[in-house]
Amino acid sequence: MTAKAHNMPAPRFARYRVEYDPLSSKHLVLDPDGRRVWGPGALALAEDKRDQLQAAVDTAAKRGPRACLSCGATFASEGIHNRMCTPCRGRGDALSGYGYARGGDGRRPSAPTAR
Ligand SMILES: [Zn+2]
Repeated sequence: MTAKAHNMPAPRFARYRVEYDPLSSKHLVLDPDGRRVWGPGALALAEDKRDQLQAAVDTAAKRGPRACLSCGATFASEGIHNRMCTPCRGRGDALSGYGYARGGDGRRPSAPTAR
């Protein structure tokens, strides 16, 4: 694994990729759906184009290193929706401190409690 790959989030989402094109004996850049978006051309140019396209969509999705809201540790965020590291997401109910109870999809405010 290269240092660059080490700094990227795990590829759980679609990626641009470079493939060899036997017809032209050159390389193509394919989008996540497999459509050609660049090429045919030289491998180095194709890799640059792939990195450029991927960086643009990653930035738009705000993917990349992010500080966890709960513990502050830096983790590989999958996007703006992903703000807590995996260990913190699995721990207790993170929203209970904000007046919400019973984690899950159908969150609703907990009954008011006397203080
Ligand atoms: Zn955390």
